Amino acid sequence: MLLEQVHEEIRGCAKCALAQGRTNAVPGEGSGNARVLFVGEGPGQEEDRLGRPFVGPAGKLLDELLTHAGLPRPSVFITNIVKCRPPGNREPQPEEIAACRPYLVSQIALIRPAVLCPLGSPAVRTLLGKDAQIGRLHGRAFKQRGMVYLPLYHPAAALHQGSLRPTLLEDILALRRILDEQGVRVV
Ligand code: URA
Ligand code: SF4
Repeated sequence: MLLEQVHEEIRGCAKCALAQGRTNAVPGEGSGNARVLFVGEGPGQEEDRLGRPFVGPAGKLLDELLTHAGLPRPSVFITNIVKCRPPGNREPQPEEIAACRPYLVSQIALIRPAVLCPLGSPAVRTLLGKDAQIGRLHGRAFKQRGMVYLPLYHPAAALHQGSLRPTLLEDILALRRILDEQGVRVV
């Protein structure tokens, strides 16, 4: 199965209730050879309109973080735990996350990133277990299942709570260090 086939399947998917309210499913985008995979929560209004991940206000901050770490956006891969917009940007429900999970699992298996960065609490809990706490885990890298996990606060959280912004800027530098240590070329 190729990444593009998975994405075609997502665009036509109706496996959970989120299919009803969407304009466009948002499979994710970036390099199929990306060494870094970012996993957000779910598409927002702009993402739903354009069918692209992180293109609204949170995306602007993510772009700044990538620049700060010296990572060109096309060199990474960016997706979400659910590929369709939850109404009013509410948190995705457990059954929606479960229905969508096989797509994320396929993306991880096909891209095989060196570093996986869950962004924010729902992504952290989805990828690391229901008891995982972003407040404790953010900015600390650890190895699991052959990958390095580096949980980060969600950029949208820093838009609401400005004090998280310097934390995010500092935490993303850990990503730069990991890639440098691994001798990973990002472009
Ligand atoms: N927030 C997310 O979690 N994902 C997006 O794609 C955009 C905003
Ligand atoms: Fe399918 Fe995921 Fe969209 Fe639900 S959120 S309809 S499972 S692609």
